[in-house]
Amino acid sequence: MNVTDQQKRYTLDFGTGWAYDPAPESTDHISLKKKYGHFINGKFVEPAEGNYFETINPATEEKLADIAVGSKADVDAAVKAARKAYDKVWSKMPASERGRYIYRIARMIQERAREFAVIESMDGGKPIRESRDVDVPLAAAHFFYYAGWADKLNYAFPGRTPAPLGVAGQIIPWNFPLLMAAWKIAPALATGNTVVLKPAETTPLTCLKLAEIMQEAGLPDGVVNFVTGAGDTGAAIVNHQDINKIAFTGSTAVGKLIQRSIAGSGKKLTLELGGKAANIIFEDAPLDQAVEGIVNGIFFNQGHVCCAGSRLFVQEGVADAVHQKLTDRLETLIVGDPLDKNTDIGAINSKEQLDRINSYIEIGLNEGAAITQSSCSIPSKGYFCRPTLLQNVSQASRVVQEEIFGPVLTIQTFRTPDEVLEKANNTPYGLSGGVWTDKGSKIFRMTSGIDAGVLWANTFNKFDPTSPFGGYKESGMGREGGLHGLLPYLKI
Ligand code: NAP
Ligand code: MG
Repeated sequence: MNVTDQQKRYTLDFGTGWAYDPAPESTDHISLKKKYGHFINGKFVEPAEGNYFETINPATEEKLADIAVGSKADVDAAVKAARKAYDKVWSKMPASERGRYIYRIARMIQERAREFAVIESMDGGKPIRESRDVDVPLAAAHFFYYAGWADKLNYAFPGRTPAPLGVAGQIIPWNFPLLMAAWKIAPALATGNTVVLKPAETTPLTCLKLAEIMQEAGLPDGVVNFVTGAGDTGAAIVNHQDINKIAFTGSTAVGKLIQRSIAGSGKKLTLELGGKAANIIFEDAPLDQAVEGIVNGIFFNQGHVCCAGSRLFVQEGVADAVHQKLTDRLETLIVGDPLDKNTDIGAINSKEQLDRINSYIEIGLNEGAAITQSSCSIPSKGYFCRPTLLQNVSQASRVVQEEIFGPVLTIQTFRTPDEVLEKANNTPYGLSGGVWTDKGSKIFRMTSGIDAGVLWANTFNKFDPTSPFGGYKESGMGREGGLHGLLPYLKI
């Protein structure tokens, strides 16, 4: 989007004349190659079959780079490199030395934070404010945190003898590309494993930039390998004979497929899957803060968050007030250029995802939902979606039961704590949830009653590397983050 469009949009958004000036982050400090091979054995290499696909900027639909398609042969080369690095170097190295490499990676991410944030926003469509303030600092924090554990594993599991597994195959989605890579790579390296990782098809660039950091950090060849591609490349990793562990973050459908295909293979497995979190507002909650929490929970990052607070439950007495406040707040959200520092809601990650979100809005309307959308203008090019509220929905509605993964919030009301607990738990998912109330006792009641791995009280979507993250039910198995996050990579 050019500046003129952006200016026009702001004037439209705030018709009264009160508007923010555009504040686009510059892109002149980033360096991107036209074409990226796989990162195998410490080097960028051409794909075995010579095929490439494009990664685009979803806000402009312009191509950013050509990316190698990973075949079985590429995955095999990466696994061989990882095995050799594991046998000859990484598992033999003193743990404190391993920790030093991980610290170095963390520091180098910090040094290049601005570049990483801009590339993340260009490749995936998320607002620069989020990639700058959340994705990149948290990615560095994960490497720092796990660097600290590398030489303290005996203290983490006193009286036991923790040992690495070998080669870890890791597959990640497009909503937090660099951060998900950090969640996977940092604990694997700290525990002495080597890695073959596949980023998502639409967002490979920050992983490939991370590969440059691995090179500059002098990480021994083959310790971390990146093979790019789509689902078939992921499947080739999952089914490779010489992989000891699979760590997958993505949809529940693919997670189930993976679980079936590795059954009986002896591979260790962690799955971080979908979610449909309940965000519960009691009458005694601080409503203005709660409204900010709701907005943060579902609208920032376009609702592309597995733990997004996508089902809102409001106690009857404040339902109208909350709806009014939310509608007013929706009008002030700025949808548009992800690189603009004022933007709240950036681009939807891909055309497919935008179509999927729009089809869910359609399904909601056909099910009888009442819709409230912000009246903001959206750019004519690129994939954008207005923030959307759906009311008059019921527990049986598909929009209440199924993960939409977009800026769409369903709103239901409740009278009693028992009623809302039953509704909150009536979902196949169990990843996260939130409760807003003035009373500590209600917080304890709700957080011990909701079947979810992560629960927030009077806040939402807050993360820390020391805190374990993961789901119940169809949201997955195993934990990432914290001391718990070491376990999936160890034999004890
Ligand atoms: P997805 O379709 O399951 O894809 C995730 C990753 O798996 C991608 O790298 C994908 O490649 C790859 N893949 C696809 N088919 C595969 C197969 N048969 N075998 C192996 N790998 C395969 O999920 P998505 O739509 O990209 O991501 C959104 C989903 O991720 C949502 O459901 C969200 O809730 C979930 N998520 C969960 C967490 C969590 O921690 N619980 C965090 C973030 C996201 P391509 O990209 O090329 O298709
Ligand atoms: Mg892209």
